[in-house]
Amino acid sequence: HKAKGKLGIALVGLGGYSGGQLAPALQETQYCYLAGIVTGTPSKAVEWKQRYNIPDRNIYNYQTFDKIKDNKDIDIVYVVLPNALHAEYVIKAAKAGKHVICEKPMAITVEDCDRMIAACKEAGKMLSIGYRLHFEPHNMEIMRIGQKKQFGSIKRLIAENGFSGAGGWRLDKQLAGGGPLMDVGIYCVQGCRYTTGIEPVAVWAQEGPKTDPDKFRSVEESLTWQMEFPNGIIAECKTSYAQSMNVLRAEAENGWAELSPAFAYGGINGKTSKGDLNFGQVNQQARQMDDFAQAIVNNRPTPVPGEMGRQDVKILQAIYQAMQSGERTTI
Ligand code: NDP
Repeated sequence: HKAKGKLGIALVGLGGYSGGQLAPALQETQYCYLAGIVTGTPSKAVEWKQRYNIPDRNIYNYQTFDKIKDNKDIDIVYVVLPNALHAEYVIKAAKAGKHVICEKPMAITVEDCDRMIAACKEAGKMLSIGYRLHFEPHNMEIMRIGQKKQFGSIKRLIAENGFSGAGGWRLDKQLAGGGPLMDVGIYCVQGCRYTTGIEPVAVWAQEGPKTDPDKFRSVEESLTWQMEFPNGIIAECKTSYAQSMNVLRAEAENGWAELSPAFAYGGINGKTSKGDLNFGQVNQQARQMDDFAQAIVNNRPTPVPGEMGRQDVKILQAIYQAMQSGERTTI
């Protein structure tokens, strides 16, 4: 692989996203490949070693993680752990002298984001967040339409993302940092930011009723919130662990654009007041990882840096604050 000029990626945490999306995507990438794994589950180490032909010297657990610093096969560490563990492993990866990709949400506090950004900067390594939709053609088109004011100034945004069936650490505030807002509501915040190209200045939020209070003991079951942008743009957002929703819509002076589903791994559909968007489907994760590998090789910035992840976490924290206080909360 090195001879072909591909950078080596090590996935940290072999759960649903690593196994279901990232490892398969790494079979399609041109500029990077699956070089190593970090797992706390010995049976997964055996299974992945065989399935992906990973040499023993590139297999780590959380205790041996720091030894990655001596491994020349690994250029990039990709942290795919429960949200609250991102900060610790991103910082360890930077200290091991590796470039880092961190899954969303970047961390559960802004302070952690600051420490992560500082650690990568100090190590002289690049940090990016797993924002795959920045490499998805329909989402790229709504960014273009919104930011270039194709239909005039945007007046109103609608962004909704939810699913039912969340379990495990996602329902544990200690590990997740919150409920559906942290997990999938973050895509609504992202969507509104990249469609307008500007930053929200204030938020309001209302927690939804708990239809299953036992399951949702420590996190919200659903949440609606509104974001106020400059120039009078209002975004109306919703997230839930009890209802399927997946839409991003922008209404402007002279037209509108809508993606539905907007945030899925595939099958993204787009319509505008001028007609349908007809882009092919791509492997979002393969494009995201290849872009990062090329950013490293060409020494140019990533379009999805740690600072972008930090701003989302800052907005998510303001939304929770608004939910608690019931008041307009500035960002
Ligand atoms: P999973 O629960 O499926 O996997 C998490 C993995 O982390 C586990 O399998 C385990 O791997 C490891 N782990 C280490 N410590 C713990 C712990 N205390 N509790 C639970 N797991 C632990 O989660 P996902 O793969 O769905 O999510 C991982 C991250 O990826 C999250 O931050 C999530 O937000 C993000 N994500 C992003 C998506 C996107 O579209 N960008 C989609 C889905 C998730 P091991 O046994 O190998 O140690």
